[in-house]
Amino acid sequence: MTAKPALQLRDFIRNIPDFPKPGINFKDISPLLANGDAFSECTSELSVHMPNNIDAIVGIESRGFLFGAALAQLTGIGFIPIRKPGKLPAETHAIEYELEYGTDILEIHRDALSQGHRVVIVDDLLATGGTAAATIKLIEQLGAEVAACLFVIELDFLAGKEKLGDTPTVSLLHYAD
Ligand code: AMP
Repeated sequence: MTAKPALQLRDFIRNIPDFPKPGINFKDISPLLANGDAFSECTSELSVHMPNNIDAIVGIESRGFLFGAALAQLTGIGFIPIRKPGKLPAETHAIEYELEYGTDILEIHRDALSQGHRVVIVDDLLATGGTAAATIKLIEQLGAEVAACLFVIELDFLAGKEKLGDTPTVSLLHYAD
């Protein structure tokens, strides 16, 4: 049995009710980022779930950049950003996906990945799963394979995991409400 770390990541997640709009209980990761030991513990816990033979870590804008880049540094694997439209300077490949109201677009550099690459997607939080599902599709459209999705937080009551199909998914913290 592995000993539990003295530091509990959950203690560094702050609930902000009704942000950014009424009814949303926002999980604020700022206290975790602000504490060196907590941020480092979080990166280390994510690294435990890294599959073998990964070519790149893909982070989703914007909080996915923080954890994805830290994990890339720790594991010595390169980092690829997935960005909101109009932010990436070179030729991009885009995907449009459904939101609760309307649609959104995510982009990746077309030359960032190619056939046969194995990647891990990192984001701060899995809610409805729409963002991660679109990211999986975007990566697969470039011929690459998603070996795993890693999240710091998962809102279990939104069942986002169901949208991710067979892709192995790990979240460090689970919230029931
Ligand atoms: P979804 O596509 O619904 O899974 O939403 C995931 C994205 O929205 C993540 O990149 C999160 O950063 C953000 N997000 C959604 N719900 C919350 C929440 N309650 N607290 C913090 N971030 C959230």
